[in-house]
Order: sequence, then structure tokens, then C-alpha cells
Amino acid sequence: MNKVRVRYAPSPTGLLHIGNARSALFNYLFARHFGGDFIVRIEDTDVARNVVGGEASQLNYLSWLGLEWNESPDKGGPYGPYRQLERLSLYQKYANELLDKGLAYKDFRENSDKFAIRFKVPQDIDYVFKDMVRGELKFNSKDIEDWIIMKDNGIPTYNFAVVVDDHLMEITHVLRGEEHITNTPKQMMVYQAFGWEIPTFGHMTIIVNEQKKKLSKRDKNVIQFISEYEQMGYLPEAMFNFITLLGWSPTDNQEILTKADIISKFDPARLSKAPAMFDKEKLAYVNSKYIKQLPVDVLAEKAKPYLEKAGITIQSESWLKLLVGIFQDRMTYIGQIVELYHAFFHDVFVLNEEAYQFLVDNTSETVLQAFLTNLEQSDFSSEEIEALIKKTGVDTNTKGKPLFMALRIATTGDMHGPSLPISLALLGKDMVLGRLKQTILKLRGEL
Ligand code: GLU
Repeated sequence: MNKVRVRYAPSPTGLLHIGNARSALFNYLFARHFGGDFIVRIEDTDVARNVVGGEASQLNYLSWLGLEWNESPDKGGPYGPYRQLERLSLYQKYANELLDKGLAYKDFRENSDKFAIRFKVPQDIDYVFKDMVRGELKFNSKDIEDWIIMKDNGIPTYNFAVVVDDHLMEITHVLRGEEHITNTPKQMMVYQAFGWEIPTFGHMTIIVNEQKKKLSKRDKNVIQFISEYEQMGYLPEAMFNFITLLGWSPTDNQEILTKADIISKFDPARLSKAPAMFDKEKLAYVNSKYIKQLPVDVLAEKAKPYLEKAGITIQSESWLKLLVGIFQDRMTYIGQIVELYHAFFHDVFVLNEEAYQFLVDNTSETVLQAFLTNLEQSDFSSEEIEALIKKTGVDTNTKGKPLFMALRIATTGDMHGPSLPISLALLGKDMVLGRLKQTILKLRGEL
């Protein structure tokens, strides 16, 4: 068998979208699983739709996702150039060859010597191919009219350029989105006209939203650009893992897999025939799994810019580590640290009815007073606070909820929350002592 060579061929018309990222990723997995080459080719012939920075965004975000490629416009390679607009003379040459063979003809514009070149579609021919995802597919040429391969401005159409490129670049397998199925017979007729070997095709199903509707770029309920996920603090390893599950699953249905695992388990025979559902909860779950696995100092480094941008003062490196440490298990994306921070540090300290009633019912004033006295001499490390909570229990002969919940309510305002010693260390001595005093006064009816 020839060496496997696959390609991802984006049009630089915008940012890297989740659907494109999936095409790229499956091609990448295919190449790496079979020890082949993964090529990035830029299909920029739809000049009016190209956007400045489109190509760079595609490449940056592919590389952010952890996809390395063997050949591309920026890297070069033996089959270049890798941008279609730099290959115009090649398409012209092959179009002329078809004209010479009588397999294409000139279609002159009215009152002009300018012409497009049309492919002469053979009559009543069945084009049959075995799709890697869907099995055998059949199209008859009578449904296809003679189509333009070269426009009158010398720029090829997609269906022509793609065949010339895939052939010259020795592409063995073409994995792409389902919207290209009906293009395949047109491409097959070009291969046959030249007597070229036809690659194996595979068309991945569409991605749908939770209402089972095809995901559209205008669907505001689903974040769809990879750059947006990066900005919110999703981890590239998690995105790689999640996108892999959009239309593929390993035999054991495991959901959290490393890149190396995915590459070794990847099997194109397991590409799903049913639409892939973009499950937002699954994405949150996968990303939070990866966040949990991060060493705290790495997470702290990643969280820092979000806090700084929100104007939150980072009191010290150790304070930052305590902060991300207590929220590590609750974050679905790293940027969420800001929201968690605000929820935790309530700008105003208020006790709700239920929390206040708990203190009244448990005559908590003595416990709070003892804790206040103990804390006044404390250096306020979480270890020392922990010891002082215990000491307060002993001093007042209190344990369980009347001890722990009372202290939590009087210092944080909440009945539940993360580790109390760490929470108090984070809130800081002034704030904690102030809140304790305030609560005591309130219980005495003096406030
Ligand atoms: N430029 C095409 C697209 O972005 C590539 C299709 C293909 O892979 O053949 O849809």
C-alpha cells in the first residue's frame, strides 16, 4: 500500500470553526494512526470570501489544538506550493489538456473573447464509490450538467482544483464533511478523464445542536470558534479529546483519553453514521476533568491573567494557589475563576434568614467569641486556622455543625462552601475578624 497521505484543506474565509477543526483532527488522527503524512493545503480560490488573517488563524488554532502537520504553506514540503492561488498555472495546464482531448470545452461569454472552461460530463454513467463512513454510494451523471472547471478569470473551481491537487500531492484518503458528498461524482469524473487513481473517500456526518438541528455558525447558543474556547480558558488537550468524540468513539466507549491513546485506538471504521451531537455538558465535563488534573501551580499561572484583567488584586503567589486550589474541582473553564472569586468574596456581607436563624438556634455567640479571641493572635495561615477551629471546639465544648457551621456562617455568610481554614486564610484576617465582630453584635441585638 502507498504511504497514507491525507490533507485538511480549509478555505481561509474565517476563524477556525469547530466543524473544520473536527475535519482537521480526524485527518490528523488518520495520518498518525497509520504512520502517514498530514498536509494542510489552503483553498483560497474563492477570492471574494477570503479574509485577512484567515489562514494564520487556521494554522494557529490547529497548532494550539496540538495538531502537527508535515507539509503546509508555512512549512513548505516536496509537493508545494500549498496555496491554490500559487498553483494557477498547474490548473491551467491540466484544463488545457482536457480541452486538447475534447473532454472539456470553451464557454464564451456573450460578445466577448473571454471564456470559461466546462467539463463535458459523460452521459448516463454511474459513479460508485465505497465511502469509509457510509458504505457504497452511487450517483448517475445524467443528474449533473456540464460544469465549469476554470472560470473566465483563470481561477479554477473547487471541484477541479481539488482533484488536481489531491492527485499531485498523492493524497490517498479524503476525509471531509458530508456537504461534499455530491461533489464526489464530479471529482471522480475528473480523475477518470486523466486516468488517475481515485483516493478513498469518507464523509463525516454533520454536527447537530441539542435540538438536533444542524449546527450553524449563526447559532448563538453554541460557542463554535476555537479561538473563543481558548480565550475562555478551555484546555487544548480537553478540546482535542472532546472534538475526537464528535462522531467517533473507541470500542470501550471511554471518554477521557490522552492524545496518544486516541491515536492508537483511532479506527475509521468506527466513525459514526449518525449525526454527531454537540453536547455542551459533555464538553464542560471533559474540560473540568482536565482542569482537575493540572498541578495547582500550573493552574495558578493560567488563572492569573483572568484575575488581573478583572482588576482583582493577587495578594501573593501562595494566596493565588490557595484560591485556585479551592475552586479547581468546580471550574469548567479557567476564566470562570473570576465569577467564583466574586461569589466567594461577596462584596457585601449579609446573612440570609436561614443562616442567621441557625446561629440563634444554636446560641452560637459563645463559640464565635471564643474563635475571635483565638484568631486575634493568629498568623492566619490555613494550618493555624485549622488548629484554632479545633481549639475553639475544645474551649467551648462544642463539635459538629454547632461548631463548624456556626463559624462558617459568621465568617463567610454561607452555610456550605469549600474548606473553611483555606477560605478564611483567603478572606484574610481583617475581613474575617470584622465579620465575626459584626455577627456577634447582631446576635446581641446591638446592631
Ligand atoms: N475547501 C473545502 C472546504 O473547506 C475542502 C473540501 C475538501 O476537503 O475536499 O470545505
